[in-house]
Amino acid sequence: MQPHTKRDGYIRINGVEVSAVDARFRPGNYQSLLAGARESGDAVCLCSDVGLRLSIKKRGKSLHLAAWPDQGGVHATDCPFYSGSMPGNRGVYPGSVVDGRGQAVGVPAEEPAGKSVDLWDVMHSLWACAGLNKWQSGWRRDWGLARSLLLRAAAAYECGGARIASRLYIPPVFSQEKKQAINDDWAAFTEFLMVAKDAVVAKRDSHSSGYLLGVVASIEPCSRGVLMRLQHHYSKIFVTTELFERLSRLSRRGWNQLQIQQQSKSSVIALLEISPDEEGRLTARDCVLMRVGARFIPSNFEAEDLLLSKLLEEGRSFERPLSFAQSHKQCANFVLTDTPTRKTELHLTGGGFPVHRIDAWVKERTQIASARGCNVWFWHKPEPLGVLPAANARAAS
Ligand SMILES: [Zn+2]
Repeated sequence: MQPHTKRDGYIRINGVEVSAVDARFRPGNYQSLLAGARESGDAVCLCSDVGLRLSIKKRGKSLHLAAWPDQGGVHATDCPFYSGSMPGNRGVYPGSVVDGRGQAVGVPAEEPAGKSVDLWDVMHSLWACAGLNKWQSGWRRDWGLARSLLLRAAAAYECGGARIASRLYIPPVFSQEKKQAINDDWAAFTEFLMVAKDAVVAKRDSHSSGYLLGVVASIEPCSRGVLMRLQHHYSKIFVTTELFERLSRLSRRGWNQLQIQQQSKSSVIALLEISPDEEGRLTARDCVLMRVGARFIPSNFEAEDLLLSKLLEEGRSFERPLSFAQSHKQCANFVLTDTPTRKTELHLTGGGFPVHRIDAWVKERTQIASARGCNVWFWHKPEPLGVLPAANARAAS
């Protein structure tokens, strides 16, 4: 491997240093470099002192980059290749992209063209690209703003050669004045799905699905499944009993939250792949559910909600690492970006964490955070939520 020096926010592809975010989310601009890197084996993330190899994968005719298997957790927390994901976790999800474990960097794992889109990857990529896992003191964010950020992110999203922007509907904030325009847009979208379905039947196309993204408003039982409705939207989507039960395992945090939604401030984002059935009823072909806390910032459980509320109340600047999987593994729960000199990872244990393992856990997390160049702060849930590390003077003023 060629020598390298740490350079935050950059990766090297076949000898050329480029923006990590751009290369991760807009691989279409880097096809010739990626093709060269397949030959030379030179694809390295520069977010860390050790230079982390990246995997080059192929879907259809286009190449894209992913973290090397099992290395998502060792990238810097603000690196777009950072995650707690392990191939084993992602492999359980139908349609998920499994890294070519054990293959040399120049040899891409082939993914068949037309393979179904990995909804978790879409969801997390849109959240990361839209910056919805980040917060800065003084920001505001409602659904209208979140939606426009997501649409912009979707326009740029082409991970694995899959473009979804033209097939994505995100309900706008409903108002009486805009009712007609909103209904017209939705009618055009459903019309598009019907035409696409007919094209599939006539074998002129291989893909009839559209994507629907929004906050879950209600779930009601019906014959052979449930009907899901999103906020700001009247249409109900049919989810089969089989798919809904699968979500209890593969989207369990979001799924659990749906069961107790009325008593909580946190909510659930659904990303549905939908197409009409024989009678024209919109039916979910696939779905993922992501639990979020205040300001649409992902939060997996109640203790995270509490910490998130405190961060917002105190006007802190922070980010929520996205794990790209159901298990958060070694990711920090949140990372303060306004602490002096270095970022500070916030790690918390739930109430059920075994007391005898806390010391070892603290030691391990401290080492991992240190390797990522961060300070660390802990909260053991049975104890009261303590004082957060102080913000630097410039950020606090
Ligand atoms: Zn990295």
